[in-house]
Amino acid sequence: MGFKRYLKFTISEFFTRSKRFWRYSLADKQMPILCYHRVTEEQDYLGLSVSLNEFDWHMHAISKSPWLEAVSASRYLAILSGEDGYPERIPVLISFDDGYRDNFINALPILNKHNIPAIQFVVTDILDNKPIWYDVVLRLFSNNDEALLLKNLSNSAKKNINSARECVDYLRASGKDEFFAAKNEIDTLANSMDFSSIYMSDTDIKLWTQAGQEIGAHTCSHPRLSALPEHLVLQEMKGSRETLEVISENKIDQFAYPYGAEEDISSSHITCLKDSGFAIAYTTIQGINRVGDEPFRLKRKCINGGLFQCFNQDFFQSLYFADLMALGSSLKSNAFIGKPRS
Ligand SMILES: [Zn+2]
Repeated sequence: MGFKRYLKFTISEFFTRSKRFWRYSLADKQMPILCYHRVTEEQDYLGLSVSLNEFDWHMHAISKSPWLEAVSASRYLAILSGEDGYPERIPVLISFDDGYRDNFINALPILNKHNIPAIQFVVTDILDNKPIWYDVVLRLFSNNDEALLLKNLSNSAKKNINSARECVDYLRASGKDEFFAAKNEIDTLANSMDFSSIYMSDTDIKLWTQAGQEIGAHTCSHPRLSALPEHLVLQEMKGSRETLEVISENKIDQFAYPYGAEEDISSSHITCLKDSGFAIAYTTIQGINRVGDEPFRLKRKCINGGLFQCFNQDFFQSLYFADLMALGSSLKSNAFIGKPRS
């Protein structure tokens, strides 16, 4: 184990076992959010999955903690805006991005078992068998058909891409033109593939909401919003909201940005969200939220497999809680020096 890992472990143990740490976080009215993608036993080629056991340990840790309370997304919004008072325990929100079917099949029973509410942000094109481009890349590599896609890329790119993950990372980092050319090719190749087994269907979404869980919008086609003109941004936002409102027969006012990094979010996107009827939006920028924070730039911690392993043990609660509470960013910003914000 590397020194950095050992240091992280020691610091996590020190803070998350200290009552002062939790009392400080409570007094500071902190409101952490986790972001999951897939809950599956399948091999995690894209770094987006946790296993069923891992997810169960995570939910168990939250439900048994005397300092934490899992809350629904609507309650989260009410607490954030001050409409509801800050609870006695730190409110934690569990969220899922994209709409994978394993969330319904594998995660829902675990959420039910621990009595934990969650919100699912659905990309609505998946309901018409139009997959998210990175799932097509993964399928091409799994079927040994990646040459169909790679043939159009530059020779240097081809040489450096040996896995689905490398291909996805390469395309994400590529320029607009190269990305859109590849995306067109991917869309064409996807026409002859069936993705119904990996994404939630209309019925799954209905059953998810009937089980007391919430849904939110995540655009229609999972684009990089910053690469789109404003009328298409609006179309992506409104279109996904309307589709989900028809399916769920509920008002949809929660949104998660595709990719969700700093460069994927602008003030004009926030204006578009407000014009499209949204009240809250989630990024994947790491850090902690507090009561009164701007509701359209909420930070989340993305969770994937193996993050909380240490000393040959599969799960260390202290590492999980340290990530949940964004301990790293708090330490970097000297947040513990001085009094909590109130
Ligand atoms: Zn997404």
